[in-house]
Amino acid sequence: MPDLSQTKLNHKLTLRIIEMTLVTLVFSLLARPILAELHPYYFWIAIFDIIITSSLYLVVRSNKWPKWHISLSLISSLIIILPMLSISGGVNSQVAFFLPLYPIVGALIGGRLESRLMSLFLIVAVLFATIFNHSIINVSGEYYADNTSYLRGFWLILAIMFSAIFGQFFLNRYTELTKKLTAENLQDPLTELLNRRGLNLHFSLELEQAKETKSPFCLMLIDIDYFKKINDQYGHDVGDTCLIEVADRLNKGIQSHHYLARFGGEEFIIVLPNTHLLEAEKIAEQLRQTIEDSHFSHLKLPITITLGIARLHGERDNALKIIKRADKALYRGKEKGRNRIELEN
Ligand code: GH3
Ligand code: MG
Ligand code: MG
Repeated sequence: MPDLSQTKLNHKLTLRIIEMTLVTLVFSLLARPILAELHPYYFWIAIFDIIITSSLYLVVRSNKWPKWHISLSLISSLIIILPMLSISGGVNSQVAFFLPLYPIVGALIGGRLESRLMSLFLIVAVLFATIFNHSIINVSGEYYADNTSYLRGFWLILAIMFSAIFGQFFLNRYTELTKKLTAENLQDPLTELLNRRGLNLHFSLELEQAKETKSPFCLMLIDIDYFKKINDQYGHDVGDTCLIEVADRLNKGIQSHHYLARFGGEEFIIVLPNTHLLEAEKIAEQLRQTIEDSHFSHLKLPITITLGIARLHGERDNALKIIKRADKALYRGKEKGRNRIELEN
């Protein structure tokens, strides 16, 4: 599923980066004559940069090619630095100090590929600028000694490589942490099943697919019978162990394309894509039987569950309505004496 919030964040970030590039360009154009005499090259290159960067800004702002935002912002950042570098003395220029920042910026706003491509591009540019240093002069007409250029080129390449490695290291850690956080966010800490948020992700996707392909779709709500008594009699910790064990038995009784989640308290929910009502009833009976026959730690008496089943009714049906019908069926099951399965009316 596309991550909408991430796309929006990338869009905003890209706009801010290009805005910063533009402000830097305009500022350098206005401030440079105060600090030193401005060579005509500087002026025209800065004007060219401003035109290109403004066009990129408009393209990103129009939001027509969201996939290209990151590449556009990285291209715009290269546009500002490379021409300036080439007219200010190549690797001997003070502008060159900024080059090692680029792979990290590429990793932060783009990703692995962007960071690698930027590093490669910059290393090649610095190599060329070092090898052909004798043809590069700065705007005041100053030549640099070969040995200074080679040494500076060497350190620059090393710094760019270091920055690229750091960028990759940062991304690895970031991906690892994001994965962990996402899993924690979608998982119930006690039973380790999906929580409601986790289930919703699969539920909405599967429901849409079932509507599109007109395939059968069922939903099962499960509630443990007299669970309060277990808590009162044995304590909350035994109640917790019992919930973990019930979750485990249910999990083992379903197939890989079914989604089991903790719906809250001692209630569970199972989404059954590609399943007819009669098949769902069969699965429910197996689950009911398994729980009734199971032995649970610390408990002398058996545990039972009541199950309510509902199915998808055409295009206009939705998740809330299906859950409501399954809940009604479950309620009926409780009224009729528990430890049973009820289908929607
Ligand atoms: P019924 O057959 O009508 O479902 O009876 P019940 O006792 O199960 O009634 P109800 O569903 O209303 O009670 C649910 C109880 O589950 C209340 C609450 O104390 C307990 N419970 C909810 N979450 C947890 C939990 O995480 N751990 C433990 N130990 N108990 C929980
Ligand atoms: Mg309940
Ligand atoms: Mg209950």
